[in-house]
Amino acid sequence: MFAEADLTSPVTIKQLCDCFDIRPNKRYGQNFLIDYNIVQKITDSAGLTSSDRVLEIGPGIGTLTREISKKAGSVVAVEVDKKLIPVLDSTLSHCSNIKIVNQDIFKYNVGDDFLDTVKVIGNLPYYITTPIVMWLLEEVPQAAEIVIMMQKEVAKRFAAKQGSRDSSAVTLAVQYYSEIEELFDVSKHCFYPAPKVDSTVVRLKRHTENPVAVKSEKLLFECIKKSFEKRRKTLINSLFGINGLEKERLVKILNEAGIDPRLRAENLTLQQYAVIANLIYDINN
Ligand code: SAM
Repeated sequence: MFAEADLTSPVTIKQLCDCFDIRPNKRYGQNFLIDYNIVQKITDSAGLTSSDRVLEIGPGIGTLTREISKKAGSVVAVEVDKKLIPVLDSTLSHCSNIKIVNQDIFKYNVGDDFLDTVKVIGNLPYYITTPIVMWLLEEVPQAAEIVIMMQKEVAKRFAAKQGSRDSSAVTLAVQYYSEIEELFDVSKHCFYPAPKVDSTVVRLKRHTENPVAVKSEKLLFECIKKSFEKRRKTLINSLFGINGLEKERLVKILNEAGIDPRLRAENLTLQQYAVIANLIYDINN
């Protein structure tokens, strides 16, 4: 019944709500895209061709899904809200290359559908953007390219440059796994219902090789996390205690690494964190 309907029209969305007895659910971060130009720009940014297999996170009522289906070989769309499944069955009934999975993305086993590389696309629910991105980078090696929309401020943090106030432990983690690019901003007025904040579409391309040589990834991320936990403090005061290290020993390590112990977390590059982590690693191994 809704196979031909314009899903970017608020009138259609209201009709879908009445017909399927649903309301956009805040709990799941449901803000649906109502600007077809943006839908096109997102899918174009992923450079889709008929040989691409796509994983879409949170299809909602199927607006992006339809466009992906036109441009890619196939799409698996994972939606947590079971009330939206009959909606998707209706709005996407004419598309033969879409598989809809009713599942929480964190419980979805990507390997069931994708053994090889996959492009990931999503207009992400704001409340779990960072966990989803970290899950994709850390746990889903198949995710070679990720084009996602997120809250503008979160995108700024993800893509922050060295020395910027926006940088955080997540910035370094994103850099470790991928190359990130902020593509374009999207006004809050492009959604129904309109959220309180604007969004940004970003693209993450997974590195084919690790950008830094680390002896222990775990220790690298511990160093980064500990440094940013007390980001107002100098490195020597925030990092001290890691792996039971006394201050004197830590000063020696930082000197050996050629790093001023008075610097703060955001001043260091990923490469410098890797050098510190490797020197600490060598003490115990
Ligand atoms: N893609 C649609 C669009 O652009 O109009 C909807 C985007 S809406 C911002 C986010 C979607 O993610 C909603 O459909 C929501 O139900 C779904 N979602 C929220 N949490 C999820 C989770 N843990 N796993 C899968 N989908 C989720």
